[in-house]
Amino acid sequence: MNIQLTPNVSEFLHSPVQHFIGGRFKKSASEKTAEVLNPSNGSRLATIAMGAATEVDEAVTAAWKAFPAWSGLSPNERAAKLHRFAEQLEKHAADLALLESLDVGKAITAAEAFDIPFGIEGLRYFADLSTHWHYDVPLAVKNIEARTHRAPYGVCGFIFPWNFPFTLLFWGVAPALAAGNTIVVKPSEVTPLSSIFVAKLAAEAGIPDGVINLVLGDGQSVGAALAGHPKIKRMSFTGSPEVGKKIGEVCGRNLVPCKLELGGKGAAIVFDDLNVEDAAKKLAGAITLNTGQVCCTATRWLVHEKIYDQFVDKAATALKETKIGAGPDRETQMGPLVSEVQRKRVLRYVEEGAKQGAEVILPGGTATPRGNEKGFYVQPSLLAGSPENVCYREEIFGPSAFLLKFKDENEAINLVNRLDYGLANSVWSTDLKRAARVAEKVIAGNSWINAHNVFAYGLPYGGINLSGFGGGVNSPETFADYLRPQTIARPL
Ligand code: NAD
Repeated sequence: MNIQLTPNVSEFLHSPVQHFIGGRFKKSASEKTAEVLNPSNGSRLATIAMGAATEVDEAVTAAWKAFPAWSGLSPNERAAKLHRFAEQLEKHAADLALLESLDVGKAITAAEAFDIPFGIEGLRYFADLSTHWHYDVPLAVKNIEARTHRAPYGVCGFIFPWNFPFTLLFWGVAPALAAGNTIVVKPSEVTPLSSIFVAKLAAEAGIPDGVINLVLGDGQSVGAALAGHPKIKRMSFTGSPEVGKKIGEVCGRNLVPCKLELGGKGAAIVFDDLNVEDAAKKLAGAITLNTGQVCCTATRWLVHEKIYDQFVDKAATALKETKIGAGPDRETQMGPLVSEVQRKRVLRYVEEGAKQGAEVILPGGTATPRGNEKGFYVQPSLLAGSPENVCYREEIFGPSAFLLKFKDENEAINLVNRLDYGLANSVWSTDLKRAARVAEKVIAGNSWINAHNVFAYGLPYGGINLSGFGGGVNSPETFADYLRPQTIARPL
């Protein structure tokens, strides 16, 4: 792979990547570091500081120091600063897309078209929303002058996963910042680079010192210290249900409100009254997007028996035609998985699914694009069979889908609802009445019709059951979540 780095990205990758605390880049007190790998070719991409409780504590202190001034700005003043920050991000959109593609392995065209612009749009959305908000709402109460007043909480903590580092960062922190909170962020140790680059851009854009703090490191030391820090007022976690439960426990013990955005096992119900090829291509696109490392994507394909064979044929063709290659290569449609650990996980699942009796339509397996043989590539896989199969029941987090045939609507709904996950499903039919009916009956935070992975600001997104709780992201409700309500009353 011969990738032309932009001068900014080159300079960034050749310097030590450090924590950002109180407006300054800092190494760890322990001087501990770790390597971040380029998943497209397995080489070292950068060296990052690995922090511990000491750095978390410093960051929380810095965030509290910045809180009075930041929360004391008027919403318009704060929004103006956040829009300047958004402008600075836009100026560096090419650097950010390249960094994201190098770090995660995702197709650069997708990073340019979605990850970076959509993250920045989130910052602008919440900045604007904050200027229209009613922070004081009068209450109609007999003989009492009363109102509900809403104010920021203080310091909020955020822990993020590795699959969409830039976009998820802004989904998480934009409402908190716009509401006047200050923040401490722990990005994933696997893909921390764009988050630290963002911190640099925030400082250049004039976001005051201490408003945004980032501590690098692993979950055991930095994540646990942040989630359990006694001075955090709100916590937000995006990641696996296994770790989410731990975060929920700690926050529960400390009585800190928390949001949990967790994994999923999304289903698509495909009826027999549509353009089969079009639906098959779109679902093949959904399972290969970000190499299948998408929490809400359609991984269970329930297809009406009348069109099943045709659908399988079209989907398999589309998957076989997907161009696999290095993330930063403009021809690439599907990059590598994020790490060797993730590749082993995906291969193990497919192997186990086959052992449990699944029909193997596409076997998956490793891929070795020429010139990038050391990257963490796999081929898309397609299995079919019983809903008891492990590949039907568990989140694989790779380009792997599981097919089932159904006869009628109720059977399809029951097949979707038999799992505890509840993030996102889709219904595909030209009968919009039926689609709406089924969309309401499949149990999840989000139901989409004739599309999968539908995102817009103003459209609430969140999970239920094993996929999370706490209000979700991307909507006016998310903004309200970052404002504590306080009743103020005077008897007349
Ligand atoms: P993960 O749960 O392993 O890690 C997420 C983050 O938690 C990382 O920063 C990690 O360092 C940290 N962490 C690990 N152990 C911790 C601990 N004991 N205490 C505190 N922090 C700890 O998840 P991952 O492998 O990075 O990401 C994949 C998962 O994220 C999948 O399940 C995926 O579905 C989910 N996800 C959900 C959403 C959503 O919006 N619902 C979005 C993206 C990813």
